[in-house]
Amino acid sequence: MRFRNFLRRAAHGLLCLALAPGARAVTDEEVRRVHESALLIDLHNDVALAVARGADIGRRGAARHTDLARLRQGGVGAVFFAAYVAPEFVKKNQAAHRALEIIDVIRHDIVGRYPRDFELALTAEEIERIHRAGRIAALIGLEGGHALEDSPRLLRSFYALGVRYVTLTHINTNNWADSSMDKPRHNGLAPLGRELVAEMNRLGMLVDVSHVSDETFWQVLEASRAPVIASHSSCRALSPIARNLSDEMIQALARRGGVIHINFGCEFVSAESAAASPFFTPSVKERRPVPRARLEHVVAHIDHVVRLAGVDAVGIGSDFDGIECTPAGLADVSEFPNLTRALLERRYTAEEIRKIYGGNLLRVMREAERIAGKVKERR
Ligand SMILES: [Zn+2]
Repeated sequence: MRFRNFLRRAAHGLLCLALAPGARAVTDEEVRRVHESALLIDLHNDVALAVARGADIGRRGAARHTDLARLRQGGVGAVFFAAYVAPEFVKKNQAAHRALEIIDVIRHDIVGRYPRDFELALTAEEIERIHRAGRIAALIGLEGGHALEDSPRLLRSFYALGVRYVTLTHINTNNWADSSMDKPRHNGLAPLGRELVAEMNRLGMLVDVSHVSDETFWQVLEASRAPVIASHSSCRALSPIARNLSDEMIQALARRGGVIHINFGCEFVSAESAAASPFFTPSVKERRPVPRARLEHVVAHIDHVVRLAGVDAVGIGSDFDGIECTPAGLADVSEFPNLTRALLERRYTAEEIRKIYGGNLLRVMREAERIAGKVKERR
């Protein structure tokens, strides 16, 4: 029996080797050229929280994974800074207050303080213009929906301040949407949740399903008139945590023109890391560092989405400065060129890399903007 298992595994190993496309040699010059030709958009970066605590993004090493010099070194073209509101602010009745503070951190302490390096972008067109001008486009994503304090008026106010996506929940179920890491209260999306999704569609704000429960995911996909994004989630088939998306979810998201942006966190990309984490695997009691993932794990998630749903369905949502453990080879924002090298070695074309790095997101944003325009015409 054991021998038969061994044979089966050996045969499987040989098959994988035979199917894997041989890595090709890639020069530094080619990596640089392809990397520079892409507009790299990171859908989720949490450095604003460190800046809120007093870190200076202009000072090297001031924050763990992100600062201006390393963003430049990594060739990052645009960043969605998360205006993250911890669930504890709901209890203090300060969720919207906190959101306004972090939005001000992004607008005032990041963009306002370094206007030669950052500019706030509100549309796909603006991201491209700012990139051409040699600056980094700064965008705002609101995480999570409890910051809206159940008010479509606050949603519109946040839009007016520049918020261009809302992550519907964080690890907490709120009054209108269930989270993947909390008890369900609505069996998905409550009527107010549907109303908020419709208002996001009308405004041209992206709907983000990272963090939501599976039920919420499916109902959002039905409810939204515009393509939906997962701003920082990876593939459940490779790391089976609730925060990642199943194959069925990824395919359904892609069928409606949406994009899953791969989270680099060790637990998100490596099953071994996830299995050792008390946060993602509650049966683990001791708190010690999880085994570190590697750049190759991130590449495997990109490969998985491409095989499952095509190259138009995948993007980058690193979660830098929001994750404890980053993969070796992708330790911080300066190391994005390593990913470009790995993708080229795996025979991704420059055009495919440009889609993954930002082309797909620009397509989704344009579609959301177009649909918002159509809704407005009809009123
Ligand atoms: Zn998050």
